Amino acid sequence: MTEAIEHWDAVVVGAGTAGSTAALHLARANKRVLLLEARPVRDSGAQWVNAIPLWMYDEAGVDKPTSRPELRARVARHIMLDPSWNHRLVLEGSPVLFVDMRHMVERLQRSACEAGAVLRESEPVREALTDHRGVYGVRTARAVIHSKLVVDASGMSGVIRNRVAAFKDRCPPPKHGDVCSAAQEVRRVRDSSAARAWLQARGAVGDALGVVGLEGGFSTRLIQVDLEREEVEILTGAIAERHRASGQALVDEFVRDHAWIGERLFGGAGAIPLRRPYDTLGVEGAALIGDAACQVFPAHGSGVGAGMIAARMLAEEFAREPLGATRRYERRFHRTLGARLAAYDVFRRLSQGFSPKDIASMIDSGLFSAHTFAAGIAQEMPTLDARLLAGLGRAALRAPRLAARLLPAALRMQAVHRWYEQFPSARALARPWSAAAATLVER
Ligand SMILES: Cc1cc2nc3c(=O)[nH]c(=O)nc-3n(C[C@H](O)[C@H](O)[C@H](O)COP(=O)(O)OP(=O)(O)OC[C@H]3O[C@@H](n4cnc5c(N)ncnc54)[C@H](O)[C@@H]3O)c2cc1C
Repeated sequence: MTEAIEHWDAVVVGAGTAGSTAALHLARANKRVLLLEARPVRDSGAQWVNAIPLWMYDEAGVDKPTSRPELRARVARHIMLDPSWNHRLVLEGSPVLFVDMRHMVERLQRSACEAGAVLRESEPVREALTDHRGVYGVRTARAVIHSKLVVDASGMSGVIRNRVAAFKDRCPPPKHGDVCSAAQEVRRVRDSSAARAWLQARGAVGDALGVVGLEGGFSTRLIQVDLEREEVEILTGAIAERHRASGQALVDEFVRDHAWIGERLFGGAGAIPLRRPYDTLGVEGAALIGDAACQVFPAHGSGVGAGMIAARMLAEEFAREPLGATRRYERRFHRTLGARLAAYDVFRRLSQGFSPKDIASMIDSGLFSAHTFAAGIAQEMPTLDARLLAGLGRAALRAPRLAARLLPAALRMQAVHRWYEQFPSARALARPWSAAAATLVER
């Protein structure tokens, strides 16, 4: 029997935040878009609470959530602590929104459909269709789909990335040491006065309280208690290595040790790629966005904002001119947000080697300041003005050994950023550019 062939302008694989945003912008540009999701839609994308910087919504062309249930909170302060809880850094105000991703994913999908995209659930893509020119479609169990653009927004599974030779050779799956095992749960507070006493003892009522370095330098456990609604949010992450506790184990341990925490309301766990984005984001006819492209802020594994911004860039380039759109998207991404993600990968790699003592000393000495903390949470490059440099100089005198490790990395972050801003236009220069980028970031 001959299979029926469908024809679309663009097919997007995966209806998480990156894929749904791509479908939304492509449909708004009057493209015929098919959004394919492997799972039932209610289970697609992130299913927990994520922190997302406000500016990233604007940059992605996505409306910010304004109320419950999607917008859960804006905290008064972020407090960072070392594992002994004796050393703290306080950031007044917050550049992020805490968002219930179940509602945000559903809103993005609905907006994409209202703009004209067609969403099909429980229809996993099994194969990429390729010829000598590049990618020209996908195959599912139900259909053969031809399309001018195939967008891989399938998250960590990278279903197109792993099946198309031009990607496969240049985009290997992230190594264990470059993956974060994360978990997030929202639970009932069963004893409000005990919860309040716990927060008061830490001077943290109404704040987000993050302990860094519980399971190696990178790891974190972020606690936020809403006393009014009697809910607690617990977010954890650690490098996915066998000798370290997983994100879920870090949540379970905290729940076990705090009797005021009650039943689980919702949440989830998963893996986040932490390595800098792949150099190759586009081949003829196909592009990678979101976790499939490793477009994640490496210092804390936040991928929602970057994936949505990449989705908008790709849709705009395709709407402008389909021919060469994926390469223009690749260049535009690397020269802007990609530069920042790669620069912070230098810091993330260094941070994995920090001991609890290093973290305490970084906070006490001022090597890690409210300014750099704020930049990290907002996913921005710190502005290296005279005040910051003078502060770092004084901090270096207080902790010279640590400074000798941190300051070269800070300079390397700037060098990486500049190198990415020079991402080449000529294809012939891509390989030497990549080789130098790898040396700069990974040495
Ligand atoms: C516990 C946890 C906490 C996190 N906290 C934060 C945070 O605070 N802030 C932040 O910014 N980020 C956070 N992240 C990371 C963030 O959730 C991800 O970066 C983001 O969800 C990636 O979006 P995506 O659309 O690229 O991929 P996904 O959300 O993974 O969506 C991919 C979709 O593709 C579908 N799919 C897979 N294979 C196929 C196929 N063959 N065919 C069709 N569809 C397919 C999947 O079913 C899925 O729905 C967290 C992650 C975890 C696990």
